[in-house]
Amino acid sequence: MCPERTISHCKAVLDGCTVIPCRRPLNITKLSDEFGQYEILLTCECGHTRKCFPQTLARIAGWEVQLDDLVKRLRCSKCGERKCRPTILHLTTPRKYTTH
Ligand SMILES: [Zn+2]
Repeated sequence: MCPERTISHCKAVLDGCTVIPCRRPLNITKLSDEFGQYEILLTCECGHTRKCFPQTLARIAGWEVQLDDLVKRLRCSKCGERKCRPTILHLTTPRKYTTH
């Protein structure tokens, strides 16, 4: 393994790409924020996590609902408590450069 070789390879790939997406943090208050283009990671106090899409939640509660209010109503599928906290995730995962 030669890490330097890997880095220079990645750099070459990046240089060829003119648009590097700016990964700003998402600030979601309502489900409709960011046009629903995000994913929600729900973390329960018991440690159980699950991912869901705003589209799924909007079908239940509507797009104009406050995310915090909605999350308070969500029940953990493992322990049954309503103690989930939301983390907003970007829809697109960063491109990974695999080494051969
Ligand atoms: Zn739980």
